[in-house]
Amino acid sequence: MTAIQVRGLRKSYADTVAVDGIDLDIPQGQVFALLGPNGAGKTTTVEILEGHRTRTAGEVSVLGQDPAKAGRAWRARIGIVLQTANDAAELTVRESVRHYAGYYPRPADPDAVIEQVGLTEKARTRVKQLSGGQRRRLDVALGIVGRPELVFLDEPTTGFDPEARRHFWDLIRALAADGTTILLTTHYLDEAEALANRVAVISGGKIVAEGTPATLGGRSTAKATVSWVDETGPRSILTDTPTAVINELSAGGRELAELTVTRPSLEDTYLQLIGGSR
Ligand code: ATP
Repeated sequence: MTAIQVRGLRKSYADTVAVDGIDLDIPQGQVFALLGPNGAGKTTTVEILEGHRTRTAGEVSVLGQDPAKAGRAWRARIGIVLQTANDAAELTVRESVRHYAGYYPRPADPDAVIEQVGLTEKARTRVKQLSGGQRRRLDVALGIVGRPELVFLDEPTTGFDPEARRHFWDLIRALAADGTTILLTTHYLDEAEALANRVAVISGGKIVAEGTPATLGGRSTAKATVSWVDETGPRSILTDTPTAVINELSAGGRELAELTVTRPSLEDTYLQLIGGSR
């Protein structure tokens, strides 16, 4: 079953083409990450899928319906984590999550959701008194309290400390294990690598590559770099056959100091795909 299907999606603002013919197929239960530089068209794409922006052209189906025409019943099946809304600043965390729970036909227990995002100690704190990262965690709580089938997460961990990010990753994995489909945009390549089954890289409104994090852009078959240190200093060789290189170098049982074999990281591949220099 496909959760999201997009064909030839285009969006223009006056003379700016923000999305320039995108196709996407995201099966149910998948964690899919959209990567791309600032202004690439990620938020525009996601907001069209959420039904929050109109499109200029193309076909879009989200949970079997066109978001431009879908109604309340469809909306209740979807969780949206916005880039920080500023409403309800006077409410406490618990009041705010309870309030949102009231919008959905079969919500989760608000206190359990507060626990899941690690805000139990702040449950009685007013929203306006939360730190930036805590506020973001509340945004996540509000996005999942309705037990959605599909969750949109636009840069969900921006402003999180490293521990909070790891907790958040666990939460996303738990949602995915329950069969929730997740579409996430992120600027953190490690986040995409840790969470996503598939990633697509958008640049200039077009998808320039799509695949699993391990194979994106031919990563898994790219040349390896064998590095070590000898009497003359650091050495490295770029090769298709790292095993043979190491066999040769270590002939006679010679120990190679600081030996490593690396292939391009997801970040290296990503930067190459979007035309960045490194
Ligand atoms: P970021 O990583 O910075 O969030 P993004 O990939 O989400 O970027 P979008 O916000 O989708 O990018 O923007 C894509 C392009 O569309 C940009 O050139 C942007 O200036 C333009 N754009 C976005 N929203 C509007 C708007 N409401 N009116 C006019 N142009 C817009």
